Amino acid sequence: QTACSSSAPQRRDAAETPSPASRKAASAPPPAEARLLYPAGVLVVSTLHRTRVGIRRIQAPMQSAAAPTRAGSRLCTRCGERKAALKRPKTLEQICRECFYIVFEDEIHQTIVDNNLFKAGERVAIGASGGKDSTVLAYVLSELNKRHKYGLDLFLLSIDEGITGYRDDSLETVKRNELQYGLPLKIVSYKDLYDWTMDDIVKAIGLKNNCTFCGVFRRQALDRGAALLKVDKIVTGHNADDIAETVLLNILRGDIARLSRCTFITTGEDGPIPRCKPFKYTYEKEIVIYPLHETFLISFNFFINLLCFVHITCADNNFDP
Ligand SMILES: [Zn+2]
Repeated sequence: QTACSSSAPQRRDAAETPSPASRKAASAPPPAEARLLYPAGVLVVSTLHRTRVGIRRIQAPMQSAAAPTRAGSRLCTRCGERKAALKRPKTLEQICRECFYIVFEDEIHQTIVDNNLFKAGERVAIGASGGKDSTVLAYVLSELNKRHKYGLDLFLLSIDEGITGYRDDSLETVKRNELQYGLPLKIVSYKDLYDWTMDDIVKAIGLKNNCTFCGVFRRQALDRGAALLKVDKIVTGHNADDIAETVLLNILRGDIARLSRCTFITTGEDGPIPRCKPFKYTYEKEIVIYPLHETFLISFNFFINLLCFVHITCADNNFDP
């Protein structure tokens, strides 16, 4: 909510003094098609905006690392000592790089503590796709586990859907994460579980509706992998933006049952293995900035993917039941 406060006045002035023509247009009710199309349009525009801003945010800390004074003469609003290097997308605070990393990690720790996500001694699988969210989650969770002594046994759990040129590349990132963070990795493949790869399914049924198979298979595969690892919980990298998208999707689909539970931080407690979202309150833009942490062990491929901000996704990818 605070995100609008600093730049709002100018826009508000413009909005409060519309021209007679625009006032007339505003008073006329929108046609039925426009009313239906509006939420979908917002979703598309918001996604495009996020992608554009995400790239800008990546570039900002890189520039500040080379020349910290270029961000301006303002001091960090948290420490009051160092020059502000970036404006937090979540709160619009002007803060230095050091404070950003501290506050980013502390907020996730606070989310874990406030929601009692884990108990000491639990075995926890991190759903690792090789993308930015799960890679940052694996790093942050392993750091917080050591720093705050959660007492968790962490594992990386990846699903190989059998999509040539996509999943095989991202699995290489996960394999590097296994070495970098010292977390055991389990890869469960559709081929082993169902004797079908997604490439086989696409050959058989075509490109239309194959996401339905993939979504159902992936959820089952995660549960099967978690059972093999004998874990108590699965954590996923779903962030605040993903949850907002899920809310919109459920509204558009008119799925009231899912709408009521899609914002829960823990789901599936009545199923075989509960799933948690430690990034529930974390903005995607900040997850994109975070890997530029100097101590974050970042692979070259992952960095290139991050810069390009390429999302190869399907409709159900971020859709948590
Ligand atoms: Zn600071």
